[in-house]
Amino acid sequence: MIANYGYMDGSGEYYITIDTDKCAECEGKMCIAACPKGLFVPIEDDYGEDVVEIDSGKVKELKYQCMDCKPTEKPPLPCISACTPGALKHSW
Ligand code: SF4
Ligand code: SF4
Repeated sequence: MIANYGYMDGSGEYYITIDTDKCAECEGKMCIAACPKGLFVPIEDDYGEDVVEIDSGKVKELKYQCMDCKPTEKPPLPCISACTPGALKHSW
């Protein structure tokens, strides 16, 4: 399943997309440790698979949560680097 977490406001669209089919097969779930803001939370989905979601308490402030990781001179993002299955995308 493709899960989208985020929002749009006057300044843009701020979504993190997670391909949870890849998460279900991902043993290390390295995104959890890699994210300095603790945005990735392990959950069991409706199908009994162990996946991750974005912390519901932080999902409406992604632009600010991710700001420290996003100066243009230092890609790639820690979460993207850690996610070797390639399950993550950011819309901005
Ligand atoms: S590292 Fe990637 S595939 Fe693994 S749980 Fe995190 S987002 Fe899902
Ligand atoms: S950009 Fe940084 S703060 Fe945002 S989800 Fe990725 S690792 Fe976490």
